[in-house]
This record gives sequence, structure tokens and C-alpha cells, in this order.
Amino acid sequence: MPVEKNLLRGIPKVDDVLAQPAVQALEEKAPHTLVLSAVRAALDGLRAEILAGKRTEAPTAAQAAALAEAELARALRPSLRRVINATGVVLHTNLGRARMCPAAAQAAYRAACGYSTLEYNAGEGCRGSRYDHVEKLLCTLTGAESAIVVNNNAAAVMLVLNELVRGREAVVSRGELVEIGGSFRVPEIMEQSGGILREVGTTNKTHLRDYAAAIDPERTGALLKVHTSNYKIVGFTEDVPLEDLVRLGNERGVPVLYDLGSGAMIDFSKYGLPKEPTVPESVRAGADVVCFSGDKLLGGPQAGILAGKKEILDRVRKNPLTRALRVDKMTLAALEATLAVYRDEAAAVREIPTLSMLLLSREELSARAQTLCALLQKAVPQLSPQTVHETEQVGGGSMPAQLLEGYAVSLVPQDSAAALEARMRCACETPLVGRIAHDRVLLDVRTIDPGEFEQTAAILKQCV
Ligand SMILES: *Cc1c(COP(=O)(O)O)cnc(C)c1O
Repeated sequence: MPVEKNLLRGIPKVDDVLAQPAVQALEEKAPHTLVLSAVRAALDGLRAEILAGKRTEAPTAAQAAALAEAELARALRPSLRRVINATGVVLHTNLGRARMCPAAAQAAYRAACGYSTLEYNAGEGCRGSRYDHVEKLLCTLTGAESAIVVNNNAAAVMLVLNELVRGREAVVSRGELVEIGGSFRVPEIMEQSGGILREVGTTNKTHLRDYAAAIDPERTGALLKVHTSNYKIVGFTEDVPLEDLVRLGNERGVPVLYDLGSGAMIDFSKYGLPKEPTVPESVRAGADVVCFSGDKLLGGPQAGILAGKKEILDRVRKNPLTRALRVDKMTLAALEATLAVYRDEAAAVREIPTLSMLLLSREELSARAQTLCALLQKAVPQLSPQTVHETEQVGGGSMPAQLLEGYAVSLVPQDSAAALEARMRCACETPLVGRIAHDRVLLDVRTIDPGEFEQTAAILKQCV
């Protein structure tokens, strides 16, 4: 105790730390109040270390100043920061889902910094609609008569249900009562929309006759098909193809809605990935409205897109919820730029990061892993970097049954994999987020841009 007391008494005074040249330099960079808080936080930290018995000598003012500098840097750095995604999960919900293509990011930047034609018709010099900018492109690309964009796909589904089903029933298969990432659940969205869920069929089998028997001219507002985008029911199963549902809906005068979720614009099976229903196919099959996300397989900004019949979407446009769920100009700009790339499928596959990362060849991934591994063997030989063959999930609730073949660099931790993984996240301003498997840390190269390899090595150097 006496030793501690002496040490505590030896802690420099706030004014002495403030007088240090290093802290004086900080006063140039940040307001005095922030510098003062950083100095106080540094001294508090020192006091706690002494009380915990972690220090045997009293800190000098210069040491406290260095700690204050680090505290200030932490206080000034943004909370929403870039990370290096070394998980291999292309659509990683926690890491921001789809990475946008440069053209989309630039369009968002221009819309953010300047005035724009957001709701202005420059040709006529009068008021325009924010929904016009992307509608034509969406119609051209999907074959739909009309399209609206809202905040996200959850909003799109809720909106169309609110307009068509409120106070009435939506008929849904029990095999399609989807939950996405905790907060989107078909029964709950239905309730919020004011619609009544009319479940039909069973978990594994639903027949067309189940839907037919549930239709009532008074009560039924719509037939809703939900793409089971994040799970698969296998074995003794049956679901009703969209085409058959459309035929039934047409016969009975009930609109058919399709919550497609993932929003694929291209046929992934052409490129060796599993078949995902595409938006153009679903429109062609005759769904009255197809709802999908902008930032899943489409690879654009967060948005929810409704594509379908003009008569229905004109009604949706007038629904007051559309105003509440409306998208920002940056989103519209980024979405327009993303959709523009899709005019040429080869360009989309090359330039839209979500597509290009999913379609990377094994040879390319292997070559990237070897490049990164060679770099790390020089930078952090103590972690014994090695290339390993790996499998990854697509993520973002897309292609659940598909594991992609890929490559990673494995690191053998000096202490534990959990400790190394934690240091990778916290050592630098840019977190390096990897994966743990068999007591090793894996850096999966599918989602690390080769332009990030040098920084990956620099971060790891801080972790050993
Ligand atoms: C992802 C998904 C949603 C929710 O979309 P968000 O854009 O995340 O709001 C809804 N339905 C299905 C089928 C989905 O896959």
C-alpha cells in the first residue's frame, strides 16, 4: 500500500502534461477541451494501472503525454470505419453487405456534395419526381412496366402488403415463412403492414390446391411467394412455381407478389454457381410485384426495389408509407450508376465487386493467396503464414446451400487464435477481420482486395 501511495503521488499534474511539447502540438490539431479530456483519460488510465499493481515506477510527464496523444487519436477517429474483410464472406451483413462499384460511389459523392436534379425536371424547369431517375433503367433491365425504390427490401415488402392486403389476407406457404437476420420475419412484417397472414400447406410441401382453397373473393388481398433465400428445405418437398401461382392469381383475380430477397439480375448458373431466381425471370413469369434488395446479389447501395405492374405501383406511389420509407439522393445516384453498369453483363461481372468476388476463379484465388502469403512470410514470419484451401459462404442470406471453393492464408498464433484475432481487430485504426478455424486464424483472400495486401501485412506487424 505505501508503495502504491508513493506511485500515485508521483502521477504528473494535468498542467505539467499539458505543458509537454507533444501535448502542445496536439492543441494545434484539436480543440482544447478534447486535449484536456485526453490528458485526463491518460492520467486516469495510469492511476488504474497503479492501483491494479501493474506499475512499479511513477510515470513521467512525457509518458503521460504519449498516452494522451493515443487517447486523442482514439477520440477523434470516426466510429464508422473501413475494415479489411478477411472472412471470405462477400455479402457480410455486419461489414456493410455489398461493396459498391467505383462508379456508384462517385455518383453518390457527386450527389452528396452538390445540388442535383433530385426532384427537378431540368428540361421543363419544373418539379420532377425522385423516383424517375432509376425507373426507366429498372424497367429496361427487368422488363417491368414500373418500378419504385424505397429504403430496403423489408420496407418494400411491407409497403406493397400495406397497399394491397391491409385489413385482408395474404396467402403464404408454411414453407416460406422466412426470417432474415433476426428482424425481418414474414409473420411480423405482415402484422406491421396491417395484413393478415393466411398460412397454407406444410413446412415441406405446399400444393397449388392449397392456395386455391384459401382464396376468398372478399378476404384475399394477395398471394405472396417468398424466396427462401437463406435456407433450403431438402428431401420430400414441393413448392409451387411462380408461374403456376400467377395462373391461379389471374384466374381468380388476385395479385401475386414475390419477395425475391437477393435480387440477382444475372443468371449465376451460367458462371458455375447455383441457380438463383433472377428479377427479369420473375417479372417475365408474371408476378404483379417483385420486391428485392439493392445491396445483396445486385451489388448496389442499400435499397428496396419494387418492380411490376404499373397499375399497382401507381397506387403504391400514393401510399403515405412511401414518403416515410423514401430513399436519399445518394442512394438513388449510386443505384442509377450500378444499374447502368448492368446494361452490359460482361461489364457488370467485371466491375461490380459483389459479382467479381463471387466469380473469382480458383486459379486467381490461389495466385492471390500465394502473393499475400509471400508478403506475410517476410512481415510476420513468427506467425508461420501458409496458404490453405478453404470454403466460404456467400453470406447476406444468399445461396445458403453453396460453399464457394477458395484460398486463405493461415496464421499460427503465438498465444491463442482468439487473442490474435482480437489484436487484429483492435491494433490499428483499420480493423482486420478474419476467421478462426482449428486454432489458427485464416485470412480469406476472396474478400481482401489485392490493393489491401500491404496494409494487411502492416496491421499484422502490430499484432505480434
Ligand atoms: C434479405 C431479405 C429481405 C430483407 O431485405 P433487406 O434489404 O435486408 O431489408 C426480405 N426478404 C427476403 C426473402 C430476403 O432475402
